[in-house]
Amino acid sequence: MKIVYADRYDLNLGAHVFPSAKYKLAHDKLIADGAARPEDFVEPQPASDADVALVHTSEYIRKLKTRTLSYAELLQLEIPYSPELIEAVWLSAGGSILAGQLALTDGAAVNLGGGFHHAFPDHGEGFCVIHDVAIAIRRLQKDGAIRAALTVDCDVHQGNGTAAIFHGDPSVFTFSMHQENNYPFEKPPSSLDINLADGVEDSEYLAALEDGLKQCFAALEPDLLFYLAGADPYREDQLGGLRLTLHGLELRDRMVFEKARQQGVPVAVTLAGGYARHLQDTVRIHSNTAKIAKDFATVSRP
Ligand SMILES: [Zn+2]
Repeated sequence: MKIVYADRYDLNLGAHVFPSAKYKLAHDKLIADGAARPEDFVEPQPASDADVALVHTSEYIRKLKTRTLSYAELLQLEIPYSPELIEAVWLSAGGSILAGQLALTDGAAVNLGGGFHHAFPDHGEGFCVIHDVAIAIRRLQKDGAIRAALTVDCDVHQGNGTAAIFHGDPSVFTFSMHQENNYPFEKPPSSLDINLADGVEDSEYLAALEDGLKQCFAALEPDLLFYLAGADPYREDQLGGLRLTLHGLELRDRMVFEKARQQGVPVAVTLAGGYARHLQDTVRIHSNTAKIAKDFATVSRP
Protein backbone atom coordinates (compact mmCIF):
# COMPACT_ATOMS: atom_id res chain seq x y z
CA MET A 1 0.00 0.00 0.00
CA LYS A 2 1.16 3.47 -0.85
CA ILE A 3 1.28 6.28 1.70
CA VAL A 4 1.03 9.78 0.29
CA TYR A 5 3.23 12.25 2.12
CA ALA A 6 5.43 15.32 1.68
CA ASP A 7 7.68 17.08 4.18
CA ARG A 8 5.99 20.31 3.12
CA TYR A 9 2.68 19.18 4.66
CA ASP A 10 3.93 21.04 7.73
CA LEU A 11 1.59 24.03 8.10
CA ASN A 12 4.31 26.31 9.52
CA LEU A 13 2.31 27.20 12.62
CA GLY A 14 5.09 27.66 15.16
CA ALA A 15 3.95 26.97 18.74
CA HIS A 16 0.27 26.14 18.27
CA VAL A 17 -2.23 23.62 19.66
CA PHE A 18 -2.33 22.13 16.13
CA PRO A 19 0.91 20.10 16.05
CA SER A 20 1.63 20.15 12.34
CA ALA A 21 4.98 18.47 12.93
CA LYS A 22 2.81 15.38 13.43
CA TYR A 23 2.87 14.57 9.73
CA LYS A 24 6.63 14.15 9.60
CA LEU A 25 6.68 12.41 12.96
CA ALA A 26 4.07 9.89 11.78
CA HIS A 27 6.11 9.31 8.61
CA ASP A 28 9.26 8.77 10.66
CA LYS A 29 7.50 6.45 13.11
CA LEU A 30 6.13 4.24 10.34
CA ILE A 31 9.67 3.78 9.06
CA ALA A 32 11.20 3.34 12.52
CA ASP A 33 8.59 0.70 13.40
CA GLY A 34 9.28 -1.20 10.19
CA ALA A 35 5.67 -0.66 9.09
CA ALA A 36 6.67 1.13 5.89
CA ARG A 37 9.76 1.39 3.74
CA PRO A 38 10.92 4.66 2.20
CA GLU A 39 9.75 3.41 -1.22
CA ASP A 40 6.20 2.95 0.10
CA PHE A 41 5.79 6.72 0.29
CA VAL A 42 4.74 8.78 -2.72
CA GLU A 43 4.96 12.54 -2.91
CA PRO A 44 1.91 14.31 -4.34
CA GLN A 45 1.69 17.23 -6.72
CA PRO A 46 -0.21 20.22 -5.38
CA ALA A 47 -3.85 20.37 -6.43
CA SER A 48 -4.34 22.69 -9.39
CA ASP A 49 -6.31 25.89 -8.90
CA ALA A 50 -8.90 24.33 -11.23
CA ASP A 51 -9.20 21.37 -8.84
CA VAL A 52 -9.61 23.70 -5.86
CA ALA A 53 -12.25 25.67 -7.81
CA LEU A 54 -14.38 22.51 -8.05
CA VAL A 55 -15.24 23.23 -4.38
CA HIS A 56 -14.17 26.77 -3.49
CA THR A 57 -15.26 30.13 -4.85
CA SER A 58 -12.89 31.98 -7.15
CA GLU A 59 -13.09 34.95 -4.80
CA TYR A 60 -11.91 32.90 -1.82
CA ILE A 61 -9.10 31.29 -3.85
CA ARG A 62 -7.98 34.71 -5.01
CA LYS A 63 -7.90 36.05 -1.45
CA LEU A 64 -5.85 33.06 -0.26
CA LYS A 65 -3.31 33.41 -3.05
CA THR A 66 -2.98 37.19 -2.88
CA ARG A 67 -2.92 37.39 0.91
CA THR A 68 -6.01 39.59 0.98
CA LEU A 69 -8.16 37.81 3.54
CA SER A 70 -9.82 40.25 5.92
CA TYR A 71 -8.80 40.39 9.56
CA ALA A 72 -12.06 38.61 10.48
CA GLU A 73 -11.35 35.87 7.92
CA LEU A 74 -7.83 35.40 9.28
CA LEU A 75 -9.17 35.12 12.83
CA GLN A 76 -11.74 32.55 11.75
CA LEU A 77 -8.95 30.29 10.44
CA GLU A 78 -7.46 30.20 13.97
CA ILE A 79 -4.02 29.51 12.48
CA PRO A 80 -1.45 32.02 11.24
CA TYR A 81 -1.47 32.76 7.51
CA SER A 82 1.80 32.30 5.63
CA PRO A 83 2.84 31.43 2.07
CA GLU A 84 4.03 28.08 3.45
CA LEU A 85 0.54 27.43 4.82
CA ILE A 86 -1.02 27.99 1.40
CA GLU A 87 1.57 25.75 -0.24
CA ALA A 88 0.95 23.05 2.38
CA VAL A 89 -2.82 22.99 1.98
CA TRP A 90 -2.69 22.92 -1.83
CA LEU A 91 -0.22 20.04 -1.51
CA SER A 92 -2.44 18.24 1.02
CA ALA A 93 -5.38 18.53 -1.38
CA GLY A 94 -3.23 17.04 -4.14
CA GLY A 95 -2.36 14.30 -1.64
CA SER A 96 -6.01 13.45 -1.03
CA ILE A 97 -6.67 13.31 -4.79
CA LEU A 98 -3.72 10.93 -5.16
CA ALA A 99 -4.80 8.80 -2.17
CA GLY A 100 -8.25 8.48 -3.73
CA GLN A 101 -6.75 7.38 -7.05
CA LEU A 102 -4.45 4.87 -5.34
CA ALA A 103 -7.26 3.48 -3.19
CA LEU A 104 -9.23 2.70 -6.35
CA THR A 105 -6.42 0.50 -7.64
CA ASP A 106 -5.00 -0.89 -4.38
CA GLY A 107 -8.10 -1.21 -2.16
CA ALA A 108 -6.75 1.27 0.37
CA ALA A 109 -4.39 4.23 0.51
CA VAL A 110 -3.44 6.77 3.12
CA ASN A 111 -2.83 10.46 2.77
CA LEU A 112 -0.62 11.13 5.79
CA GLY A 113 -2.18 14.59 5.97
CA GLY A 114 -5.42 16.36 5.08
CA GLY A 115 -8.87 15.85 6.50
CA PHE A 116 -9.56 19.60 6.64
CA HIS A 117 -13.28 19.16 7.15
CA HIS A 118 -14.12 22.61 8.54
CA ALA A 119 -13.37 24.45 5.27
CA PHE A 120 -16.38 25.89 3.39
CA PRO A 121 -16.59 26.95 -0.28
CA ASP A 122 -16.13 30.63 0.57
CA HIS A 123 -14.18 30.58 3.82
CA GLY A 124 -11.93 28.56 6.07
CA GLU A 125 -12.26 28.00 9.79
CA GLY A 126 -11.09 25.84 12.65
CA PHE A 127 -7.53 25.23 11.31
CA CYS A 128 -8.92 24.26 7.89
CA VAL A 129 -8.12 26.43 4.85
CA ILE A 130 -9.37 24.36 1.89
CA HIS A 131 -11.35 21.11 1.94
CA ASP A 132 -8.97 18.49 0.55
CA VAL A 133 -11.45 15.60 0.76
CA ALA A 134 -14.20 17.47 -1.09
CA ILE A 135 -11.70 18.59 -3.72
CA ALA A 136 -10.59 14.97 -4.18
CA ILE A 137 -14.16 13.69 -4.50
CA ARG A 138 -15.07 16.37 -7.04
CA ARG A 139 -11.91 15.75 -9.07
CA LEU A 140 -12.45 11.96 -9.12
CA GLN A 141 -16.06 12.47 -10.15
CA LYS A 142 -15.00 14.88 -12.89
CA ASP A 143 -12.47 12.34 -14.18
CA GLY A 144 -15.18 9.67 -14.25
CA ALA A 145 -13.13 7.59 -11.80
CA ILE A 146 -16.04 7.44 -9.30
CA ARG A 147 -19.72 8.30 -9.29
CA ALA A 148 -20.76 8.01 -5.65
CA ALA A 149 -18.65 8.63 -2.55
CA LEU A 150 -19.11 8.14 1.16
CA THR A 151 -17.33 10.25 3.77
CA VAL A 152 -16.93 8.68 7.21
CA ASP A 153 -15.76 11.37 9.60
CA CYS A 154 -14.66 10.11 13.02
CA ASP A 155 -12.94 13.29 14.11
CA VAL A 156 -14.30 14.44 17.48
CA HIS A 157 -15.55 17.63 15.80
CA GLN A 158 -18.49 17.63 13.37
CA GLY A 159 -17.59 17.86 9.66
CA ASN A 160 -19.48 21.10 9.07
CA GLY A 161 -17.67 22.00 5.84
CA THR A 162 -18.27 18.55 4.37
CA ALA A 163 -21.95 18.75 5.30
CA ALA A 164 -22.36 22.18 3.72
CA ILE A 165 -20.45 21.36 0.52
CA PHE A 166 -22.36 18.17 -0.28
CA HIS A 167 -25.77 19.20 1.07
CA GLY A 168 -28.47 18.13 -1.39
CA ASP A 169 -26.05 16.12 -3.55
CA PRO A 170 -27.31 12.51 -3.79
CA SER A 171 -23.94 11.30 -5.13
CA VAL A 172 -22.13 11.93 -1.82
CA PHE A 173 -23.28 10.57 1.53
CA THR A 174 -21.69 12.40 4.45
CA PHE A 175 -21.50 10.67 7.84
CA SER A 176 -20.09 12.47 10.84
CA MET A 177 -19.82 10.98 14.32
CA HIS A 178 -18.68 13.54 16.85
CA GLN A 179 -19.04 15.03 20.31
CA GLU A 180 -22.22 17.13 20.27
CA ASN A 181 -21.07 19.62 22.90
CA ASN A 182 -18.01 20.83 21.00
CA TYR A 183 -16.92 22.96 18.05
CA PRO A 184 -18.53 23.72 15.58
CA PHE A 185 -21.42 25.01 17.63
CA GLU A 186 -23.55 25.45 14.52
CA LYS A 187 -23.67 22.06 12.81
CA PRO A 188 -25.15 22.05 9.30
CA PRO A 189 -26.77 18.64 8.78
CA SER A 190 -24.67 15.84 7.28
CA SER A 191 -26.50 13.00 5.53
CA LEU A 192 -26.07 11.24 8.86
CA ASP A 193 -24.91 12.84 12.11
CA ILE A 194 -24.36 10.88 15.28
CA ASN A 195 -24.08 13.32 18.17
CA LEU A 196 -22.27 11.77 21.09
CA ALA A 197 -22.55 12.91 24.70
CA ASP A 198 -19.49 14.09 26.62
CA GLY A 199 -17.31 11.31 28.01
CA VAL A 200 -18.40 8.47 25.72
CA GLU A 201 -16.02 5.49 26.04
CA ASP A 202 -14.88 2.72 23.69
CA SER A 203 -17.79 0.28 23.81
CA GLU A 204 -20.53 2.88 23.40
CA TYR A 205 -18.57 4.60 20.63
CA LEU A 206 -17.98 1.40 18.70
CA ALA A 207 -21.63 0.37 18.95
CA ALA A 208 -22.70 3.76 17.58
CA LEU A 209 -20.14 3.53 14.77
CA GLU A 210 -21.33 0.08 13.76
CA ASP A 211 -24.90 1.32 13.60
CA GLY A 212 -23.87 4.42 11.64
CA LEU A 213 -21.90 2.47 9.07
CA LYS A 214 -24.84 0.12 8.59
CA GLN A 215 -27.04 3.12 7.81
CA CYS A 216 -24.46 4.52 5.36
CA PHE A 217 -24.22 1.35 3.31
CA ALA A 218 -28.01 0.94 3.34
CA ALA A 219 -28.37 4.44 1.89
CA LEU A 220 -25.71 4.39 -0.82
CA GLU A 221 -23.46 2.06 -2.80
CA PRO A 222 -20.28 4.14 -2.89
CA ASP A 223 -17.43 3.66 -5.32
CA LEU A 224 -15.02 5.04 -2.72
CA LEU A 225 -15.02 5.76 1.00
CA PHE A 226 -13.05 8.69 2.37
CA TYR A 227 -12.23 8.04 6.03
CA LEU A 228 -11.36 11.07 8.16
CA ALA A 229 -9.51 9.31 10.95
CA GLY A 230 -9.27 12.12 13.50
CA ALA A 231 -7.10 11.26 16.51
CA ASP A 232 -9.04 13.62 18.77
CA PRO A 233 -11.71 11.29 20.21
CA TYR A 234 -8.78 10.09 22.38
CA ARG A 235 -9.28 10.43 26.13
CA GLU A 236 -6.13 12.57 26.50
CA ASP A 237 -7.07 15.07 23.79
CA GLN A 238 -6.94 18.75 24.69
CA LEU A 239 -9.76 19.78 22.34
CA GLY A 240 -11.97 16.71 22.67
CA GLY A 241 -14.32 15.50 25.39
CA LEU A 242 -14.69 11.83 24.49
CA ARG A 243 -12.83 9.10 26.34
CA LEU A 244 -11.55 6.60 23.78
CA THR A 245 -8.43 4.59 24.58
CA LEU A 246 -5.61 3.91 22.11
CA HIS A 247 -6.98 0.39 21.76
CA GLY A 248 -10.50 1.71 21.18
CA LEU A 249 -9.20 3.93 18.38
CA GLU A 250 -7.56 0.92 16.74
CA LEU A 251 -10.82 -1.00 16.95
CA ARG A 252 -12.57 2.02 15.42
CA ASP A 253 -10.19 2.02 12.44
CA ARG A 254 -10.52 -1.73 11.98
CA MET A 255 -14.30 -1.48 12.02
CA VAL A 256 -14.34 1.14 9.25
CA PHE A 257 -12.03 -0.95 7.06
CA GLU A 258 -13.84 -4.19 7.86
CA LYS A 259 -17.27 -2.82 6.95
CA ALA A 260 -15.90 -1.27 3.76
CA ARG A 261 -14.27 -4.55 2.80
CA GLN A 262 -17.54 -6.43 3.35
CA GLN A 263 -19.12 -4.05 0.84
CA GLY A 264 -16.16 -4.22 -1.56
CA VAL A 265 -15.56 -0.49 -1.21
CA PRO A 266 -12.00 0.93 -1.37
CA VAL A 267 -10.91 3.31 1.40
CA ALA A 268 -8.82 6.47 1.21
CA VAL A 269 -7.66 7.76 4.59
CA THR A 270 -6.94 11.32 5.69
CA LEU A 271 -5.75 12.24 9.17
CA ALA A 272 -7.87 15.25 10.32
CA GLY A 273 -7.36 16.49 13.94
CA GLY A 274 -5.37 15.33 16.93
CA TYR A 275 -4.36 17.39 19.97
CA ALA A 276 -3.27 14.90 22.60
CA ARG A 277 -1.51 16.29 25.65
CA HIS A 278 1.50 14.25 24.60
CA LEU A 279 2.31 14.68 20.91
CA GLN A 280 3.65 11.14 20.67
CA ASP A 281 0.12 9.83 21.38
CA THR A 282 -1.31 11.72 18.40
CA VAL A 283 1.55 10.43 16.24
CA ARG A 284 0.94 6.89 17.47
CA ILE A 285 -2.81 7.05 16.74
CA HIS A 286 -2.21 8.30 13.19
CA SER A 287 0.54 5.79 12.48
CA ASN A 288 -1.65 2.97 13.83
CA THR A 289 -4.35 3.99 11.36
CA ALA A 290 -1.86 3.71 8.50
CA LYS A 291 -0.72 0.28 9.73
CA ILE A 292 -4.30 -0.98 9.90
CA ALA A 293 -5.03 0.43 6.43
CA LYS A 294 -2.08 -1.56 5.12
CA ASP A 295 -3.49 -4.82 6.53
CA PHE A 296 -6.72 -4.22 4.68
CA ALA A 297 -5.12 -3.08 1.43
CA THR A 298 -3.29 -6.37 1.15
CA VAL A 299 -6.17 -8.64 2.12
CA SER A 300 -8.91 -6.81 0.27
CA ARG A 301 -7.29 -6.87 -3.13
CA PRO A 302 -9.27 -9.19 -5.41
ZN1 LIG B 1 -11.12 17.67 15.29
